[in-house]
Amino acid sequence: MDRRGKVAGRNHRRRQVPMSRYAEFYRRSIETPEAFWTEESRLIDWHTPPQQILDAGKPPFANWFVGGRTNLCHNAVDRHLATRGDQPALIFVSTETGTEKTFSFKELHVEVQRMAASFIALGVGRGDRVLIYMPMVPEAAFAMLACARIGAIHCVVFGGFASVSLASRIDDATPKLIVSADAGSRGGKVLPYKPLLDEAIRISRHKPASVLLTDRGLAPMDLVEGRDHLAAPLLEAHRDAQVPCTWLDAADISYTIYTSGTTGKPKGVQRDTGGYAVALAASMKHIFDGRAGETYFSTSDIGWVVGHSYIVYGPLIAGMATLMYEGLPTQGLDGQPDGGIWWRLVEKYKVTVMFSAPTAVRVLRKQDPALLKKYDLSSLRALFLAGEPLDEPTGRWIAEGLGVPVIDNYWQTESGWPILTVANGVEATPSKFGSPGIPMYGFNVKILHESTGEELTGAHEKGVVVIEGPTPPGFMQTIWRDDERFVNTYWKTVPGKLVYSTFDWGIRDEDGYFYILGRTDDVINVAGHRLGTREIEECVSGHAGVAEVAVVGVADALKGQVAMAFVVPKDGAALADAAAAQKLEGDIMKRVADQLGALARPSRVRFVGALPKTRSGKLLRRAIQAVCEQRDPGDLTTMDDPAALQQVRQVLAS
Ligand code: ATP
Ligand code: MG
Repeated sequence: MDRRGKVAGRNHRRRQVPMSRYAEFYRRSIETPEAFWTEESRLIDWHTPPQQILDAGKPPFANWFVGGRTNLCHNAVDRHLATRGDQPALIFVSTETGTEKTFSFKELHVEVQRMAASFIALGVGRGDRVLIYMPMVPEAAFAMLACARIGAIHCVVFGGFASVSLASRIDDATPKLIVSADAGSRGGKVLPYKPLLDEAIRISRHKPASVLLTDRGLAPMDLVEGRDHLAAPLLEAHRDAQVPCTWLDAADISYTIYTSGTTGKPKGVQRDTGGYAVALAASMKHIFDGRAGETYFSTSDIGWVVGHSYIVYGPLIAGMATLMYEGLPTQGLDGQPDGGIWWRLVEKYKVTVMFSAPTAVRVLRKQDPALLKKYDLSSLRALFLAGEPLDEPTGRWIAEGLGVPVIDNYWQTESGWPILTVANGVEATPSKFGSPGIPMYGFNVKILHESTGEELTGAHEKGVVVIEGPTPPGFMQTIWRDDERFVNTYWKTVPGKLVYSTFDWGIRDEDGYFYILGRTDDVINVAGHRLGTREIEECVSGHAGVAEVAVVGVADALKGQVAMAFVVPKDGAALADAAAAQKLEGDIMKRVADQLGALARPSRVRFVGALPKTRSGKLLRRAIQAVCEQRDPGDLTTMDDPAALQQVRQVLAS
């Protein structure tokens, strides 16, 4: 075929992905994307079938399923009514409020229509933005689906964000309506949202016409006359509403969502409708191997892309029940500590597919391991983890404890679904610890030399992980309202080539498995040698005394940069003894020198009680690095725990 096909074909001959059946599947997706995605597009319902599968005429923009008309809400809800209307669709569990409630597909259909009718009553129509600033409650999912139903664009903002982050998103999305609640709750502590929202609207330039508020009875609310509406009476007024799905063009925007802000200012990712629906349906089949009638449990939050794809849309499109969870992984429904709550829910709801993050597993690892054996987990087929590198000790611990495959998967807010993992729904493929896996169908993943742009095809050659266009369905369309920024930010970083940069640094082994070595921003240059922070972290975390680690590169007059390690020890108390701390520091340094060479050895290992992270649980290396170099740490509005950064400052000063 065209230029794209030839490049892909050559690429395939050079590098075989393992396993024959999947290799063939993958090859077809890259060499003949139109034919491949025509087949996949049949996994969803179309009101009008697409006339053209792919329009890649204006690279790097990829326009999928041109002329097709569909609706995400129809595919997630309505189309299941005839076959599984009485089966569970949304299972809500809150260990914060001790609530457990199941909605069947029929009930979900009713709730979504009530919400949609309320939105319409508030003047919301096709193409209008609705900003959702909600805790993990069913109304949040109803609101997302209601937007999809009427063609409004949702912009979910993580409920834990404070006014400044929220205000900047209000100004970017310019919503007609904001959907919110009186409060969230974390670890039994009520977090009032309404005052944060009021303050955000006060400081934002854009003012929404209406605010719709779910009152959970957790915190008092002052309503602003004419602007604020309580949800309950409005929903009640529309209790029997019938709101048909608006048939949208495949390219119509379904939502915008911001990246986590780990490396800097979050970027507003814009997603389409048709491509996203197909991508999710395909991933549920080929990657997650989730089947209609079963239960899917993702522990993420609707504020993140994982929550959009695999709490709300993906499982429902597949006809699965989705378990939506509010609370810590360590607290029971009675509010008492319970490190086994997630496993209890797996047993009770016969969860077959579970999705979480390494950061959550590290929390569970501090619990009694017997909790993993206490419940009947025989329904569970696999646990998927994503969001951060899964270090081998953590991966092994949970895999052995659960006795099911633990499958790492690498993706980005931008991609919408996994870029690297294994597709066990196509062919059973082994995972390797430390590697998120192999390129998924549709993703033409390559490793390039970051300054020459030359493709690196040899095993263990380090470079930037990039994706060659056209990007597959479900991938971001552009940056919201800023095509130019989209092209310049993502596609113009490698000289002379129009390729999408993931901004991650990686290698591939001889079997074609990728390893992510760190963010390109985080690569350390020691005396001319390039090292990924993540390689060093993996090595440090293999030490039995280490619970968590962050490695950053710090400017050094002599060597350019040196590595500095911040370690959360397993046994913090023992390190009160200076000699013990010194010994552990020495042991860690020696381990790195032995395994990776003297250049990688951290110049210092500092011990802290916690590491600075984003609200989504990702290490904020850039903030640690800035503090080490006595620079301004920049935008910290997405940071979880300011005390952790303060600790870093303190140990540096000591
Ligand atoms: P920002 O782009 O705003 O700096 P972010 O990159 O953390 O924030 P996300 O889109 O949530 O925002 O995260 C995607 C990134 O997370 C990837 O680029 C990668 O660095 C990391 N990541 C995700 N999953 C994995 C994984 N399985 N293994 C290694 N790294 C992962
Ligand atoms: Mg990113």
